[in-house]
Amino acid sequence: MDKALVVELEKLIGRDAVVSDTTRLLSYESDALAMYSAPAELVLLPKDTAEAAACMRLLAHYDIPIVPRGAGTGLTGGARPIAGGVVVATSRMRQVFEVHPEDGYARVGAGLVNIDLTHACKSHDLFYAPDPSSQRACTIGGNVANNSGGPHGFKYGSTTQHIMGLVVVTPQGDIIDLSKPKVDPDGVDLVGLFVGSEGTFGLATEVTVKLEPCPELVETLLAVFTGEDGLDRACDAVSEIIAVGLEPSAIEILDSLTIAAVEESSFAAGYPRGASAVLLIEVEGTETEVRGTCDDIEALTRRLGAAEFRRAQDEVERHKLWEGRKGAFGAMGRVAPDLYVADAVVPRTKLREMVRATVAIAERYGLKLATVFHAGDGNLHPNICYDRRDPEETGRVVKAGVEILEACVKAGGSLTGEHGIGLEKLGEIGLLFSEHDLQAMGRVRLAWDPKLRMNPGKTIPLRACVELSDGPRSAESAV
Ligand SMILES: Cc1cc2nc3c(=O)[nH]c(=O)nc-3n(C[C@H](O)[C@H](O)[C@H](O)COP(=O)(O)OP(=O)(O)OC[C@H]3O[C@@H](n4cnc5c(N)ncnc54)[C@H](O)[C@@H]3O)c2cc1C
Repeated sequence: MDKALVVELEKLIGRDAVVSDTTRLLSYESDALAMYSAPAELVLLPKDTAEAAACMRLLAHYDIPIVPRGAGTGLTGGARPIAGGVVVATSRMRQVFEVHPEDGYARVGAGLVNIDLTHACKSHDLFYAPDPSSQRACTIGGNVANNSGGPHGFKYGSTTQHIMGLVVVTPQGDIIDLSKPKVDPDGVDLVGLFVGSEGTFGLATEVTVKLEPCPELVETLLAVFTGEDGLDRACDAVSEIIAVGLEPSAIEILDSLTIAAVEESSFAAGYPRGASAVLLIEVEGTETEVRGTCDDIEALTRRLGAAEFRRAQDEVERHKLWEGRKGAFGAMGRVAPDLYVADAVVPRTKLREMVRATVAIAERYGLKLATVFHAGDGNLHPNICYDRRDPEETGRVVKAGVEILEACVKAGGSLTGEHGIGLEKLGEIGLLFSEHDLQAMGRVRLAWDPKLRMNPGKTIPLRACVELSDGPRSAESAV
């Protein structure tokens, strides 16, 4: 990295906010998809929009690629560089600028950790609904970039339904202020366009979010399935709950390997160890609604063979049941040193069939599969437990991951339920989109970033836009 540039950047945001020594750079060389890594040349930690804009203007002047980064919990390699460039991270942008309880919104820094937003508005009896299982670490800006979901996406929808405004720094270092809360945008919906753009359009520095009123009553339920076909029956129960029109706010499935890992870990939730699957279900609303829905769900799951049905007796038990689910990926460190979290979505009527298909694929490749997923959304997470120090096993993991995606798309599903395309699924994007589709996306990307310096090599194959641009053709070989 050009020494003069580093000095200029240090003048702009301070020496501590410019990370250039190799040891500190190590923590930025991958995200939670640890099988891929590459060193960053430099990491910048601006504290606000003005500092981010000043840095990005300078990087534009030197024609240097930029990789935006939140907490690095992404599971598709999105927040790590491919072939050099500068990482601009939002870790110091954790401000809560304003909370408007009457109008139900807040404006926060993009680096605010998801759960801290809910903590910040709890005293007003409000909460921020999108709740990725990583919510104790991931940032609101990362959620915006990936249009993240979570267990409660079943009732509340994913991030895009909760973003009312943004401040964006463009790759050229200009500031676009779209932060005024809008439910129904005037003109071109740039906020809607930006959500899900995976760091390829610019850096979000401030986010205006919609807040939800805390429900009158919340009940958390656990339906336990045993026996060889327990996982099948758990899947059937989900399809049936939806088909008959019951409306829980979350439905999650955990299989036997996941249950065992959680119960061995510090996230132990009291899930029955011998079970082949559990359904973790949440119901929210008024007392009458909640009681009725819980009774109906109990009757339905028992009819489909649930061996046991529990209702959390108090807040402590509720919290524990969710801790187990949200800590499940971490708990899988008990099974193997690495975890590959596949992320695809299938029609909810095909859950049984597709879970079986993923199990069969993993078996064929001799891999250990733990399944835990947002079943209510049809969002499968077949998790392959492996050791990335073994290149042969890692090769099998990659092949199995591709086959899982192919099977899900063939079944009428999609390439990503919530984690995005990033680097991981770029090779499979043609399963869903034609070259014309990709070129249309490429044109939109070029409108934001004519030189293709923002997160190059992610999300859309560069071939879809490179011919129209004067961008970094060399990065194409890294895709
Ligand atoms: C244990 C675990 C559980 C998870 N559970 C869920 C889940 O339930 N649902 C779900 O959807 N995901 C889940 N994830 C994936 C991940 O947490 C989400 O994708 C999350 O939104 C990433 O946020 P982050 O701050 O870590 O972003 P990063 O990983 O740092 O970045 C993600 C992407 O966003 C871009 N980006 C980051 N910040 C900005 C910004 N301010 N402006 C523009 N672009 C930006 C990056 O370039 C990158 O492409 C999970 C991950 C883990 C490790």
